[in-house]
Amino acid sequence: MSAAVEVRDLRVELGGTPILAGVDLTVAVGEWVTVIGPNGAGKSTLLRAVGGLLPAPDAVSLFGTPIRALRRRDRARVVATVAQSPVVPAGMAVFDYVLLGRTPYMPPLGRESAADLAAVHEVLTRLDLDAFGRRELATLSGGERQRVFLARALAQGATLLLLDEPTSALDIGHQQEVLELVDQLRREHDLTVLATMHDLSIAGEYADRLVLLADGRVAAAGPPAEVLTEELLARHYHAHVRVIPGPHGPHVIPLRRR
Ligand code: ADP
Ligand code: MG
Repeated sequence: MSAAVEVRDLRVELGGTPILAGVDLTVAVGEWVTVIGPNGAGKSTLLRAVGGLLPAPDAVSLFGTPIRALRRRDRARVVATVAQSPVVPAGMAVFDYVLLGRTPYMPPLGRESAADLAAVHEVLTRLDLDAFGRRELATLSGGERQRVFLARALAQGATLLLLDEPTSALDIGHQQEVLELVDQLRREHDLTVLATMHDLSIAGEYADRLVLLADGRVAAAGPPAEVLTEELLARHYHAHVRVIPGPHGPHVIPLRRR
């Protein structure tokens, strides 16, 4: 079976500066891979390229099809992105925002069908968001809003989810809630997850594999215990940490230098 994501020698330049300098990445169907790396390493850029939001002529294939061969609407049925800080349209209700996820199923300039409305209702119920349908999205708390962003991605019906720092704005309890939810949905619906995350211990607890991106290249990749090492984190983050084995992956503890 083809991999969900196949990236070969991806090179991206932005504003004349090389950002990704030859990245290889494979994500198997059903796998959860999280990209880590210091600020500015190119994590968001990598996700944008995989989501088809950057020109990446031949470097990216999704489920065996080169991304350049997928038309926009077809691509949207395959891959759904939750951006690092999604733009929240002013005054938009939660239901209408989630309904945007159905756009690839609607005829151009056409209206939503009964099936689209049913899909939105189903996803709101599944994510425990029924009570929020008529609320203005901007009035929700960070955790509630993150669930709505996920709901829109799920309503899109794509089986590959790209999640760029889905938990950075959340407290520790809501981080766990959102990530457990993603994992549950992944299992129930055979989803593939490619995420980026800053909290290294949490990244390791949820991902099957981690990819450490530094200076536009893959510096390390593998099971969390192979990537979250004191040596690699010192080298690529210039961080002074202690790594302790834990039941679901290593715990990374920042230490003061003196
Ligand atoms: P990360 O998500 O790992 O923090 P990004 O992928 O957002 O990193 O950015 C990687 C690098 O690319 C950063 O140095 C950033 O400043 C640069 N960059 C991002 N977008 C642009 C752009 N449109 N033009 C020039 N440089 C950019
Ligand atoms: Mg980023």
